[in-house]
Amino acid sequence: MKILYKPKRIKYFMNVAKLTANESYSEKLKVGVVAVRENRIVATGYNGTPPGASNICETVAEKRYVKFSDWQKMLDLKDGWRPSLEDIFTWERLTAVPDLIHAEHNLILFAEAHNIDLASCDLFQTIAPCAACASRLHDVGVRTIFYLEDYKNTGGIDFSEEMHIERVTT
Ligand SMILES: [Zn+2]
Repeated sequence: MKILYKPKRIKYFMNVAKLTANESYSEKLKVGVVAVRENRIVATGYNGTPPGASNICETVAEKRYVKFSDWQKMLDLKDGWRPSLEDIFTWERLTAVPDLIHAEHNLILFAEAHNIDLASCDLFQTIAPCAACASRLHDVGVRTIFYLEDYKNTGGIDFSEEMHIERVTT
């Protein structure tokens, strides 16, 4: 089933999804979602920690850092130690905290708490859903998911046989 929205309308809903994503405290990936029924937004959600919890969404698992200028100095040492690849490269591995709630899950929790029926709603979201969220959205009767960017895994897209899931551009 193909559901048609005018490009202008898709842009509007996606703009709201992006604004909603910006509310997330996540440093790694901010995700926003809006639920639409009959061309009106009925609820929004973004990824974050549970109500009352700290807003810290990630922990830094590892952090190593050598400035390029320092690395050059190290190489200039005549008989000195030579940096390994690990020493040269900089990385920060941000890991989501265990109780981080995905944007779509947050949307569902909010809708349940406020008696907003998501059945037959269409979702506009900044990132494709993960498999767990796609399953939850399917269970509450969401009709269509429009998204802008792919997620790191495509598990959610596998639900496209049961819900219409479509990548769109604005
Ligand atoms: Zn998810």
